[in-house]
Amino acid sequence: MDIEQFRKAGYQAIDRICDYYYSLEQRPVVSQVQPGYLREALPENAPEKGEDFQFIADDYQKLIVPGMSPWQHPSFFAFFPTAGTFESMLGDLYSSSIPTPGFNVIPASTELEAVVMDWGAKLFGLDSRFLNSSEIGGGVIQTSASDSALVAVVAARARYIRDHPGVKQEDLILYTTTQTHSLGLKAGIVLGLTCRALEVLLDDQFALRGSTLQDALEEDKKRGKHPFIIIATIGTTSSGAVDRLNEIGEVVKTYPSLWIHVDAAWAGVTLACPEFREIAMLDSINKYADSFCTNFHKWGLVNFDASGMWVKDRKHLTNALDITPEFLRSKHGDAGTVIDYRNWHLGLGRRFRSLKLWFVLRSYGVEGFQKYIRSTIQLNDYFVKLVRSSPTFHLVTQPSFALTVFRLVPASSASTDTTALNTLNESFYSRISARQDIWLTQTKINGVFCIRFAVGAARTTKEHIDKAWKLLNEEAEIALADWVVISN
Ligand SMILES: *Cc1c(COP(=O)(O)O)cnc(C)c1O
Repeated sequence: MDIEQFRKAGYQAIDRICDYYYSLEQRPVVSQVQPGYLREALPENAPEKGEDFQFIADDYQKLIVPGMSPWQHPSFFAFFPTAGTFESMLGDLYSSSIPTPGFNVIPASTELEAVVMDWGAKLFGLDSRFLNSSEIGGGVIQTSASDSALVAVVAARARYIRDHPGVKQEDLILYTTTQTHSLGLKAGIVLGLTCRALEVLLDDQFALRGSTLQDALEEDKKRGKHPFIIIATIGTTSSGAVDRLNEIGEVVKTYPSLWIHVDAAWAGVTLACPEFREIAMLDSINKYADSFCTNFHKWGLVNFDASGMWVKDRKHLTNALDITPEFLRSKHGDAGTVIDYRNWHLGLGRRFRSLKLWFVLRSYGVEGFQKYIRSTIQLNDYFVKLVRSSPTFHLVTQPSFALTVFRLVPASSASTDTTALNTLNESFYSRISARQDIWLTQTKINGVFCIRFAVGAARTTKEHIDKAWKLLNEEAEIALADWVVISN
């Protein structure tokens, strides 16, 4: 493809992307293709001779697009939102137009990342110790929240071993809760570390309490074990629980070598709005967290991938991860005058992700960012009101930011034991998940089967919530009628 062919194909691509977004609402939110459909549709080998790009572009429309489930669909209420903005798409396009592995210290990609991560820290009200400009702490864009947590665990382990020489790896313990995202367990598997999931209770809205942590620490210390990090969550994946970071922080005062990593992959972006800073525990994050993570690529308007990670002391990352060989040394890097991001994560090369973040933060401004977060939370508040007004729909946990966890509990039903209600809700959910015009996800919390409703797609409006509510009621009526027949 030469430059003029690229120009033509590029214009066509943008046209087709625009058409796609105009037609988004009419498309199924859950892709209707069967697994394996592509293998059947595609030849077994790459073509011997190059093909005309127009055929390739047409095949993309015909074969690939129908197999994608658009998380940007206004009736997408599953998992958590995935940001998709045009500013961000353009950022990715420009960044791939000058492909570099981006690890050298001087390029604009590094400098821009250092600047926009400071913008992000200030947007969220993070303490100045998290700023790159502090030259002690700083922010870095990782691929995902799982990578951010893994890097935090690596840094915490290195710090712990340095302060407690002779401790055996098998005696180290990584704390999570039973509600922590699987990233905790994954970090344990990757690093060969024992992961202990602390119990959390419905009475506490599944938040980790200081007393639970305190008991675990004492118990493990007695057994000769060495807990070295706790991964606390602001907004768990299942139910949006917020661990009591204030209590955790107080406990950790007497265990200063315990690293606190705050995983706020989803809910961290609410910190942009002053009114959510108290429930999202900003003061405690600033006071106690060693590292903090929120995903711009989830609810933060930046297309996948862009996981924001900030640390109060960057040398714990670089002490653990700097292996700078001679051929990568530079005078600026050695002098410490510039950030050498390759020592802040696992890979050497890195994508130019700060460009899309820069585009988004400039185009939306702080006000635009806040407005989007607020509007999605308001839509969820509206959904919560509908649930509360219904005799059969019940909230399982308190609504959290833009997430509602609910289930059916028929008022008239005599048999309300967990098993019977789970059966009802499983059949209710299987009816919803058979539809292609809405997408919700299920979860099970302490044995209770429930359904999650997460708002966040940029095109969702009140009409889509009304439509969802109507549809949920219709399916609930059928599921309830079937269930009454079975349970009698
Ligand atoms: C989504 C989510 C994650 C995982 O994020 P990745 O970036 O895909 O690793 C981790 N923690 C929480 C609380 C999440 O909601």
